[in-house]
Amino acid sequence: MLLLSGPNMGGNELKYVTECIETGWVSSVGSYVDKFEQMSAEYAGTKYAVATSSGTTALHICLILAGVGQNDMVIAPNITFIATLNAIKYTGASPILIDTDADNWQMDLNILETFLQAETVQKDYVCYHKLTGKRIPIIMPVHVLGNICNMDKLLALAKQHNLVVIEDSTEALGSYYKGKHGGSFGLMGTFSYNGNKIITTGGGGMILTNDEALAKRAKHLTTQAKSDPFEYMHDEIGYNYRLVNVAAAMGVAQMEQLPGFIARKKEIIAFYKKELHGIGDIKFQQVSDDVTPNWWLPTIFTIKQKEVLKALNDSKMQSRPFWVPMNQLPMFKNDLYIQNNDRSDFVYQHCLSIPCSTYITDADLKTVTNKIKEVFI
Ligand SMILES: *Cc1c(COP(=O)(O)O)cnc(C)c1O
Repeated sequence: MLLLSGPNMGGNELKYVTECIETGWVSSVGSYVDKFEQMSAEYAGTKYAVATSSGTTALHICLILAGVGQNDMVIAPNITFIATLNAIKYTGASPILIDTDADNWQMDLNILETFLQAETVQKDYVCYHKLTGKRIPIIMPVHVLGNICNMDKLLALAKQHNLVVIEDSTEALGSYYKGKHGGSFGLMGTFSYNGNKIITTGGGGMILTNDEALAKRAKHLTTQAKSDPFEYMHDEIGYNYRLVNVAAAMGVAQMEQLPGFIARKKEIIAFYKKELHGIGDIKFQQVSDDVTPNWWLPTIFTIKQKEVLKALNDSKMQSRPFWVPMNQLPMFKNDLYIQNNDRSDFVYQHCLSIPCSTYITDADLKTVTNKIKEVFI
């Protein structure tokens, strides 16, 4: 079975994890947590990084820190992984779902702009939704598949409409826009280290920020808001959202290999683009010249999506459709969906991700492309 994007544990993982076990430093404190945080901040070019138990919990904490609560609305793309929306819902806020750009598969910034101009008002530097009178404090771009939208435009719109930017950059470790790392543009950004991500700790996440006070509060909130080093004194409702040292040890070993992983992802996408060029109507995600993506998960667009999915999966080459658009899920069907011809559904109906584990061989890549080509004969 060729996994879609399997973990690559070819470095110092075993050595560092063994060290944790032999020394007993397996849990919530230990040098690997600090080291992993330092490496992540340095890599992303932010001043601070705070490790969390998952990307989802990182997003939840960011929203809490930004003061999002009941009666607020948060702008997010309609095509994303469920975790973005779950984090918004945990705070009691409701999402404003923005349709998808048909070419780069990120939030459509033209639709966003029209919505902000026509349907919001600014009062005392706060953005309100005209129809419901609800506050819209946050916009949450998602760097879908490690691609990044036109951040200049997004940041300008956010500024003009008094929106704070929190980036769901969980897929963008190693992706840059105009030389700046994904997750370092907003007030806060996030990473995920789930098993299928570009690096993994089994499960885990990270909060990125340049704001010292926010970083301290993030650490505090993710560790049960304990306010005294000795007494069990807690000064607010906290969360047990910390990353354990064993997982962080894996993270450090994975970070050491990240440049190699990204180099391999780039070879994989180059191979696919070359081999599948001119085959049927196959298209790849459009990436602007301003973006250097990590190519975490090569994904193709074709009218024969269902046939290609079946052909590959039947031959044990794990391939997956795109996420079901959020507005099509029962939990969000009553939330606001701002769209133009429902491009999200169009993208969803045509896209599929193809095998791209960093350890995949060129021979296996060739088997994948041959199988895809058969569908178009
Ligand atoms: C992976 C991912 C997350 C976070 O996932 P966890 O499994 O909780 O680490 C959030 N948003 C997106 C877009 C993701 O792909």
